[in-house]
Amino acid sequence: MNLILMGLPGAGKGTQAEQIVDTYHVPHISTGDMFRAAIKNETALGLEAKTFMDKGELVPDEVTNGIVKERLAEADTENGFLLDGFPRTLNQAEALENILKDLNKKLDAVIYINVNKDILMERLTGRIICRTCGATYHKTNKPPKVAGTCDRCGGHDFYQREDDKPETVENRIAINLELTNTLLDFYTKRSVLHTVNGEDDVQDVFKDIQEIIADTKK
Ligand SMILES: [Zn+2]
Repeated sequence: MNLILMGLPGAGKGTQAEQIVDTYHVPHISTGDMFRAAIKNETALGLEAKTFMDKGELVPDEVTNGIVKERLAEADTENGFLLDGFPRTLNQAEALENILKDLNKKLDAVIYINVNKDILMERLTGRIICRTCGATYHKTNKPPKVAGTCDRCGGHDFYQREDDKPETVENRIAINLELTNTLLDFYTKRSVLHTVNGEDDVQDVFKDIQEIIADTKK
């Protein structure tokens, strides 16, 4: 089973990817891991990617696509793979189609974990940190036992990391949403897109994913 897992930041993609990999024993292929491996193994493409990353530049699509192709050609993908974080753009999605064709593989399903933007905001902006001892809490999911007081040190001074501030998160979601919608259109047209409700409990989301995977095997 050859799968792509998609979801906006905060949709719970990491948790579901872990469960899919544990259950179906397919390699989890994330863009970050792929780059790290190519650089560590000093492949030609890995070294090329590194020259861009060292300059703080985006790695061009042709380099990224080459790294993806090398990874998908490895023996451990024989019984399937779970792609995560790739493709990110329409160009990459089109390139992936060609890569899979070249490798004689077929995409079985694209699974999109859908979560309403307001809920993503709540999940992603909720983290607060105790300035005194560094203990972390979440405003809704894991608040301090006594409001405004750190469980660990009794401190009252909490702060938010820059990454967790509403403006930053809002911006991150907006950028991702635009890219995601383009890809959702692309995969809808190819009749491989399946959407699960990521607002359900983690286990219910995974049940839905298992049903989709079972259907691809029919
Ligand atoms: Zn504290």
